[in-house]
Amino acid sequence: MEKELDYDIVVVGCGVAGISAALSAAENAKKINKKLKIAILERANYDNRGGNSRWTASYMRMKNLDEVADNFVEDMMVFSDNYSDREYIETLAENAGSTLRWVEEQGVDFDYLPTMFLTSARPRLLPVGGGRAIIDTLSRRAGGLGVEIIYEATAWKLLLDDEGSINGLKVRVKGGSSLHLNIGALILATGGFQGNQEMMAQYVGRDAHKIPTVAEGGLFNKGEGIKMAMSVGAKCAGQFDAFHAEPVDPRSKREEAAVMTYPYAILVDQNGKRFVDEGKATIDEQYEAVARKIFYDLPGHIAYMISDQKMYDIPNYERALETDKPAIVADTLEDLATKIGVPADQLVETVDSFNAAIQPGDFHWDKKDGKKAIGITPPKSNWAISIDKAPFIAYPIVCSNVFTNGGLATDTYGCVLSQDNDPIPGLYAVGETAGLYYGKYPGGTSVLRGLVFGRRSGEHAVSYLSNSKKLEV
Ligand SMILES: Cc1cc2nc3c(=O)[nH]c(=O)nc-3n(C[C@H](O)[C@H](O)[C@H](O)COP(=O)(O)OP(=O)(O)OC[C@H]3O[C@@H](n4cnc5c(N)ncnc54)[C@H](O)[C@@H]3O)c2cc1C
Repeated sequence: MEKELDYDIVVVGCGVAGISAALSAAENAKKINKKLKIAILERANYDNRGGNSRWTASYMRMKNLDEVADNFVEDMMVFSDNYSDREYIETLAENAGSTLRWVEEQGVDFDYLPTMFLTSARPRLLPVGGGRAIIDTLSRRAGGLGVEIIYEATAWKLLLDDEGSINGLKVRVKGGSSLHLNIGALILATGGFQGNQEMMAQYVGRDAHKIPTVAEGGLFNKGEGIKMAMSVGAKCAGQFDAFHAEPVDPRSKREEAAVMTYPYAILVDQNGKRFVDEGKATIDEQYEAVARKIFYDLPGHIAYMISDQKMYDIPNYERALETDKPAIVADTLEDLATKIGVPADQLVETVDSFNAAIQPGDFHWDKKDGKKAIGITPPKSNWAISIDKAPFIAYPIVCSNVFTNGGLATDTYGCVLSQDNDPIPGLYAVGETAGLYYGKYPGGTSVLRGLVFGRRSGEHAVSYLSNSKKLEV
């Protein structure tokens, strides 16, 4: 038997976007002396709440706590080939500092902690304790203001009243029972669709099921928020056939088992051949393109980093190797090739011609040093050092899915837009559920935008309810 419950505001999803929306709604209701019934629905149990946010270190593209990194808006526009919504990005830039101060006031500390990027074009500020600290801290605050969190509850259908405003939500609870929620406003913060193989195949295409999520949290994001809103006429945004990609060690089961040391080495495919300029740019600006190339262009969707003992001389190399699996080691290149299953003669030939193509110049691990290998295809633009100090080492690398780009089109308060660009009354989408990115991902912006637009949507939902007289005075 379906249970019926009444709420003023329901937020679906307890990641950074959902928790900031719920807390902001509760704070704004308090400011105007309204006692609102606010709930968060979360598919996972308490221990697994928070989807992607639970696993991220949450790098943020910030110069300091108050200012975004230089060229923030232009970088985001250029990376998207100008397809992203400029007004949305400008709103993000304008509100990033005040939102992080708000998160800080709740009890989260920020610092420039060491990152896995040994070279970087833009600064990265981090919350101490990562995304999980944000969820835990903000949910404690929200709980203090009366926000309820209902775990193991999956939203699957939304309902409209006669005027086309959101007024209900159907929810399945673990074990098979159902809830019917009567609601005034709905904030969708269900992440992307990386945990839904059918949608991944539909939008990303062939062999999408072979792309692992970068952490298990992504598996909870099955795209219902996006599909529910599309079923009532919502417009979409963001590049549906693309996802933010990261190169990881397929042997590792840990979250974000990244291999970011390859700029100091070479990458080869299963045939033992190089396929990319491993030193084209600082690592933060190029790892996504390399990961995508491994998936889209290489046989078996796999590459191998080939290096030698000199890698261990690079200061802080451990930070860039987040895998918990050891290097595959051999005294000769022929033996290394046998261990990783690539043709030995080709691997030897690739390494020999790479070594011969290295130009004179000083090696600097911490900046683009212009130490090139030329006359080979592809060339290497920086950090070209010979591979000749045995034992030789290899790491396998595959492309992982950090999050999907396709989502719902919203205005700068997170109001979901119809195909005719009018807000659908009472419906919001924030975080990965809102489509934003095209082309190359501007690193350190996803958690940030989840927080900024989550907070703005909570505030807007309260004023929407007040203005539409859905709140008793
Ligand atoms: C390992 C890793 C590293 C990352 N590094 C960075 C970084 O350094 N900087 C950065 O900015 N970003 C980073 N990201 C991306 C970033 O973490 C996410 O994009 C962001 O946290 C998404 O927040 P969200 O609230 O939109 O979604 P999520 O945090 O994924 O939360 C979505 C929630 O919705 C729930 N849910 C889904 N469907 C339903 C439903 N139908 N009903 C009820 N609940 C539902 C899920 O269980 C989940 O709790 C990283 C991600 C990972 C995994």
